[in-house]
Amino acid sequence: MTTVDVPSSKAATHCKIGGAVIAPGEARTVEIPVAPTYAHDDLAMSVHVVHGKRAGPALFVCAAIHGDEINGIEIIRRLVKRIDIKKLRGTLLAIPIVNVYGVIAHSRYLPDGRDLNRSFPGSATGSLTGRVAHTFMQEIVAHCTHGIDLHTGGRHRSNFPQIRAELTDPAVRAMTEAFGAPLVINSAVRDGSLRQCATEMGVPVILYESCEALRFDEVHIRAGLKGIINVMRHLGMLRKGRAKTRKKPIFSRQTQWVRAPASGIHRMLVTLGAQVADDQVIGVIADPLGIEETEVRAPRAGVIIGRSNLPLVYAGDALFHIADMHEDAVFEADSFHEELMPSDFQPPEDDPSSAPIAV
Ligand SMILES: [Zn+2]
Repeated sequence: MTTVDVPSSKAATHCKIGGAVIAPGEARTVEIPVAPTYAHDDLAMSVHVVHGKRAGPALFVCAAIHGDEINGIEIIRRLVKRIDIKKLRGTLLAIPIVNVYGVIAHSRYLPDGRDLNRSFPGSATGSLTGRVAHTFMQEIVAHCTHGIDLHTGGRHRSNFPQIRAELTDPAVRAMTEAFGAPLVINSAVRDGSLRQCATEMGVPVILYESCEALRFDEVHIRAGLKGIINVMRHLGMLRKGRAKTRKKPIFSRQTQWVRAPASGIHRMLVTLGAQVADDQVIGVIADPLGIEETEVRAPRAGVIIGRSNLPLVYAGDALFHIADMHEDAVFEADSFHEELMPSDFQPPEDDPSSAPIAV
């Protein structure tokens, strides 16, 4: 893994975010205005800036670019609680909700029907979505050296914790390896995504995918938080932890959706994270009385990285997302879960703020 050059203990200078001037050693929430609603409510994107006394990298961590993908909001709440400004080198910009409109409406999109993650870099005079993209680029990305973007699967679809990154970029690859997610999908950047535009500006960004839209998942939240802390250590923003031999992630270069061969009621036979063989039966679709049944088979060997949780399907619906892996590789989804699952779900009475989310 390449290491990052961190300036020695140079003192930080003031930083300016959204018109606010933040002194070294200061943590503050800055409200960056976005277009108000037509009911005349002011809306703002809240950015929590933690500006360490010592100079270093500036990392943004953002969630809910897709307004129904909320797992990252909780990851960021825990991250902000966890960071001790006295131990921080550089600056953390935490943006739990980028698409404020979408979160209010439980919607992936903005009110103009556009997808924010296809609208970067946007423009100050463009569509509503383009303006939010532009504001984010100018007020956040332009002030940062690195970024982590948190996403989830869609509605009724969950994703196994994974990093999506363009691994040909050495800085992106190093952040990906540092994060330590069990699975890495080497994916080319999409046009108009934050990842593409930020990387083109020289700000390497990795994307963490986990969980399902409009849901929390304790293990996936823990994996995300741990990954971000690992990246901050790699960047020299936090002191390195005790050296543990980290398991190498499984790298996948190709993924494929398995579509329903028939309409009907779908019974899933494999869990998220399951390693499946070529042609294995992974689901059965039947009519409501179970008179006619159609098997769903894996078109290739690999790992189930995404799954539709809704048993009501039309022919052609995407049911399973399978990632290729090296034929000798063994994917240990169970040990990943065991490692991160809280041993005790009893909320600590003295500190409910740190209690795990019950399953
Ligand atoms: Zn998303």
